[in-house]
Formats: sequence, structure tokens, C-alpha cells
Amino acid sequence: MPFPSNQSALLAAGYEYARWEKCGTCQLPCEVWTTPGKREIFMDPMPSHETPSVRHYETCKGAISHQSTSPLTWSDIDKPSSIPPFKE
Ligand SMILES: [Zn+2]
Repeated sequence: MPFPSNQSALLAAGYEYARWEKCGTCQLPCEVWTTPGKREIFMDPMPSHETPSVRHYETCKGAISHQSTSPLTWSDIDKPSSIPPFKE
């Protein structure tokens, strides 16, 4: 099923408006919606029922700049040590 295209479609599909909240990345005010699966998603503000629904991560300035940085890897820490403890 494609993502609902506007606020009316969101409501018809079982999404519910929860609250507004500042994006922790770019500080823009966003609408937080609860999906039919009870997940929360950040949406760009939709002042009318006909406003196209855009998931905030698609427009978030912060997210775009973060994509260029490689995620932290913990492989070096999780790896069991194959080196025996050093002894004098
Ligand atoms: Zn953002």
C-alpha cells in the first residue's frame, strides 16, 4: 500500500495525529503521527487536509547532512580478542 498522499488520506488509512514536536536534528516543528502499527512518525506540518503528506526524514536538513557520515561501527569492540593477554 502506498503511503497516504495527504492528511485526509492519512486519517482514512488509520493514522492518528499525536502532537507536534521539534525535530531533534533540524529543530523544525513537526507533526508526530501514530501509524496503524502504533509507530510514531515525524511529518512535515500539514496545515490543511489537502496538504501533501511528507515524511519529515525526506526533507530534514539534518538527516541529509548526516547521511554523508558513516555510522559508528562497534565491530572492533564486539570482536572476541584473539590476542592472548600480554605477559612480562
Ligand atoms: Zn529535521
